[in-house]
Amino acid sequence: MPAERPNIVFIMSDDHAAHAIGCYGSRINRTPHLDRIAAEGLRFDRCFCTNSICTPSRATILTGTYNHVNGVTTLTTPMDNRLQTYPKLLQAAGYQTAIFGKWHLGSGPRHCPTGFDDWAVLPGQGRYHNPQFVFKGPEGGETRTVTGYATDLITDFSLDWLRRRDPARPFCLMIHHKAPHRPWYPDEKHARLFLDEDIPEPETLQDDYRGRAAAAAAAKMRVGPDMTPTDLKCEVASELPEAELRRWAYQRYIKDYLRVIASVDDNVGRVLDTLDRAGLSRNTVVIYTSDQGFFLGDHGWFDKRFMYEESLRMPCMLRYPAMVAPGRVSTDMVLNTDFAPLFLDLAGVTAPEPMQGVSLRPLLEDRTPPDWRQAMYYRYWMHRDGSHNVYAHYGIRTHRYKLIYYYADPLGQPGAAGEACPPEWELFDLENDPLEMCNRYHDPAHADTVAALTRELARLQAAVGDAPWTGAPTPSAS
Ligand code: CA
Repeated sequence: MPAERPNIVFIMSDDHAAHAIGCYGSRINRTPHLDRIAAEGLRFDRCFCTNSICTPSRATILTGTYNHVNGVTTLTTPMDNRLQTYPKLLQAAGYQTAIFGKWHLGSGPRHCPTGFDDWAVLPGQGRYHNPQFVFKGPEGGETRTVTGYATDLITDFSLDWLRRRDPARPFCLMIHHKAPHRPWYPDEKHARLFLDEDIPEPETLQDDYRGRAAAAAAAKMRVGPDMTPTDLKCEVASELPEAELRRWAYQRYIKDYLRVIASVDDNVGRVLDTLDRAGLSRNTVVIYTSDQGFFLGDHGWFDKRFMYEESLRMPCMLRYPAMVAPGRVSTDMVLNTDFAPLFLDLAGVTAPEPMQGVSLRPLLEDRTPPDWRQAMYYRYWMHRDGSHNVYAHYGIRTHRYKLIYYYADPLGQPGAAGEACPPEWELFDLENDPLEMCNRYHDPAHADTVAALTRELARLQAAVGDAPWTGAPTPSAS
């Protein structure tokens, strides 16, 4: 048990899928600095988000609550900054706190960052090159343009703050990269990576969505047909047959995606080196994660939103030499609700009642409790937004199975613009069908599994305080 309260460095990128990180077995890139965190600490192989979309996942991480509790169900429901968050509680307990980079939880006095001694955040999605930042100030902050590349600048601000802090008190530093979010503009240093090579394609690039719920074919996230000239940095070769268009567009976009990740990797190396040189590494918890996963051409898609594995899974590597032995891998199920309770627990602060996650401390100490969760609840609310057209759904994932219910109703949610569609179910056997290509829901051989998972879904949904879709008209959110 470490004598001192730990420092916390929480590094979160935006849309960085685990399968584009070396230590997760990436076939498409190398990430030596990110891999160092896992080699010197713990890699979580089953870390999942509870709603695979930027703003909601960020609100969950800060508050330790599901989106039906914190109210941040969609991209257009900013977080009310009167909600309790772990940075506020750490600050009240004597921690120095700061956040630099992407906030994406709204702007202005009601939605700007609170609970931080210092902050500078990108307005909205922010830009890669010469971005504007909103700096801490009165009335929600002051906006200034800064020359440079977003990933470098966010790291510069973070390291500068580290140098300026009071060394006598513990700190919590949140480094939130914009990268590798669309539209994937690399910096000059990495712009020529992969120029003369083909990146391996995912097995499901040419998925035809046969046998899946209608939601899969309806999604407008296809690599090629649903991309813009900005995504591809050239005109879309829409004259190509779709299979060829997918292959061509995949090479175009994935290279830029990996180039912006190369900059993230370099900059994480800068942070690790700084902690080492300052003698801070032993007592500092360093986490690298992303607000959700991403489809890297998997199922023919880019983007996220679905409960399918590539989108559901968050990378999560954690280094804390004072508590965590190096080179460990955990397959225990952890969620984005768990970060806040973990940080509070490590700081000796009691997590307040609304927090729904569970502290990961026993997993860090390599003693998984016998009653640790065996299933997780997921819900995507943003039914048929104006562009990606993914249907609203909720579901349950166990270690072996996934049951998804596309209730497909906007329920008056902001940003959920489309008409309701007929509800549908999917069941996947992740052991025999890890790529989720075969919906077993209507297979009589799986009837008992469907019945058991349906009961467990209802139980979990009630346990977190959410309600099932009933088909009844729902008053619009106010
Ligand atoms: Ca995101």
